[in-house]
Amino acid sequence: MVLKIRTYPDPVLRGKAKEVTNIDGALQRLIDNMIETMYAAPGVGLAANQVGILQQILVIDINPRQQTEYPLIALLNPRVVTAEGSAEGEEGCLSLPGFNAVVERAERVFVKGVDREGKETEIEATGLLAVALQHEIDHLRGRTILDKASPLKRSLYKKRALKKSAAE
Ligand SMILES: [Zn+2]
Repeated sequence: MVLKIRTYPDPVLRGKAKEVTNIDGALQRLIDNMIETMYAAPGVGLAANQVGILQQILVIDINPRQQTEYPLIALLNPRVVTAEGSAEGEEGCLSLPGFNAVVERAERVFVKGVDREGKETEIEATGLLAVALQHEIDHLRGRTILDKASPLKRSLYKKRALKKSAAE
């Protein structure tokens, strides 16, 4: 089922997601729905906050057409344990339609979490996968790329988004 993607200024995007402690059928359905929603958008990643759920769940597929090199990732309770280097790149976000910002991220990250079967997992990532992991983990902490943009760019987008949501 494709879920509704929450967009700015929905307060759930500012919320801090809680650790997943119970891996049950409802959680598996939610993960499947998040994957479906990500592909339908289409996007390369989605955090649970973006579908209105404050649980630490992210899904990422940076290359949906080539499933060999980077498979689909579904990760629970992710945390960055090591971050090295820095790289800048332009990012967009499904929750911030029409917004792009150049964001500085760690170039290489080592992320720990739990997979959808409850098994401890470690992912070492560089490039786009490293960016996607940091972007989605930020969402779970209540942060978006809007926080990383320049104050001017941020206030222009906020004005535009608030005008649009008032008109709806
Ligand atoms: Zn995003």
